[in-house]
Amino acid sequence: MSQTDQQVIAVVLESAEVSLISRWCDEGKLPAMQRLREQGVWCELTGPGYISSGCVWPSLCVGTNPAKHGIGFFHRELKNGTYRMIKKYADQVVGEYFWDSLAKAGHRVAILDAALTKPTPGMNGVILCDWGSEHPGWKQCSEPPELFADVSQRFGEHPLADWYQRRLHTVEEWRELSDKLIQGAQIRTDIFCAMIARSASRFALANYSEPHWAGHMCWHLHDPDHPEYDADLVAKVGDVILDSYRACDRGIAQIVERFPDANMVVLSLIGMGSHAGGEMLLPEILDRLGMAGKGPARNSPREPGGSRRALFGNTAATTQTIQRVEQVISPDLMRRVKNAVPERLWDTVTRGVLSVGTNWKNSIAFSVPGDNSGLIRINLKGREPKGKVEPGREFDAVCEQLITAFKELRDVSTGKPAVTDVYKLRDLLKGPLIDELPDLVVLWQRGVPISAVESERLGRIELEEFHKRPGGHWHTGFLMASGHHFKRGEVLPTANLLDVAPTMLALFDVEAPQEFDGEVMRGMLRV
Ligand SMILES: [Zn+2]
Repeated sequence: MSQTDQQVIAVVLESAEVSLISRWCDEGKLPAMQRLREQGVWCELTGPGYISSGCVWPSLCVGTNPAKHGIGFFHRELKNGTYRMIKKYADQVVGEYFWDSLAKAGHRVAILDAALTKPTPGMNGVILCDWGSEHPGWKQCSEPPELFADVSQRFGEHPLADWYQRRLHTVEEWRELSDKLIQGAQIRTDIFCAMIARSASRFALANYSEPHWAGHMCWHLHDPDHPEYDADLVAKVGDVILDSYRACDRGIAQIVERFPDANMVVLSLIGMGSHAGGEMLLPEILDRLGMAGKGPARNSPREPGGSRRALFGNTAATTQTIQRVEQVISPDLMRRVKNAVPERLWDTVTRGVLSVGTNWKNSIAFSVPGDNSGLIRINLKGREPKGKVEPGREFDAVCEQLITAFKELRDVSTGKPAVTDVYKLRDLLKGPLIDELPDLVVLWQRGVPISAVESERLGRIELEEFHKRPGGHWHTGFLMASGHHFKRGEVLPTANLLDVAPTMLALFDVEAPQEFDGEVMRGMLRV
């Protein structure tokens, strides 16, 4: 397969939604990607994204499932063996980046902003970390170390560098966001091309985080069915999702023009849609099932009707907590404080707050933070410090009870099942770090947020008013690949995200490490 002078360039469009990429390629709105798709191969990608968006990057980069690399929803995870929330960082990902195998085999690499990664000292190539990440997972740095300062001096910082939790109100502010996303993608392209040229790399990978930002913040500027859709605002600002994807498409066109002989791979690890799901209902569901801990929890008064309206509620869903803190402290003040203290101190304090007042130690099961799915941890003896449930049969029985109860729930607004499935991760994933992850993953029906559910067992449970960002993750990504290594014009069956790393190695005739969980995507390769 390998030729000595061959080049593979991979572009990750972070959280770009597969259905939109496909439609807008068909409609001619993304001409560079449409050309790659026509001239190469296309498939959808599934993977461990059903657990959370946080685990997909490590799964790509080290080629293993989350029970081996140890990362779930890394922004806010339970520290295994405690009842404390932490943020995980790049140095807690267990495994070796697939590009390190390429570099060791003599192929120079260039890596830009691969999320939750850090430089490998002395690597055969260049890497730039967290120049413009939607969710920094390490620190701004590079290998060689002077590269980051060089890039900053020449290209500046990402236009959205200080946009932490900013809330937008005016047409001008939304336009400014749109402009900064477009600028960000353009500068990123210039940086990436300069890195490839400077390092004479054979394998290069860049992450474009602009679709991720646009998806979370601007879904209501795209989707007429979104509850916050504002036709007047859209008429003035435009579809920011489309505009951000177009900016990436222009970047891809520029890369193809600059490196015309390269094999191009464009992919997204997970998708995006209108925020959906019912994870905020989990604490009350567990309470009604008798699984939530009893006893006093600070700031957790019960109100008439039985729902908890706590600041730091008993088994409270922690996203609610963040929102309530932000209602008390303005986002501007939060941003100023955040910028004034070291990143890790900020993370430790804010995650610590999320655990305050919970009654997880007295619970049989409790919900932990996630994004597109509901995540549940069983309070297991021998693992949790005050475990209540014996491993083995009792653990299995609690899981079964929960699975049955969740599958009975109907969405009150549609009458349809609210939950499509509940996965017991131990049955699906094998690896020594399985206890870093939640025990059960509740998959909600896709659509709009679920605000009320009911079943004979639990009665009717309604969500108090709650606001999340307009866009939320969904499970499916995509991959398109074009160049002399790839077949032409073929639509392939859905592949797994874990197949990408061994396939990238196979393009250079480098054998996949034994611990990899995926297979080489032979169907896309010319033999
Ligand atoms: Zn996200």
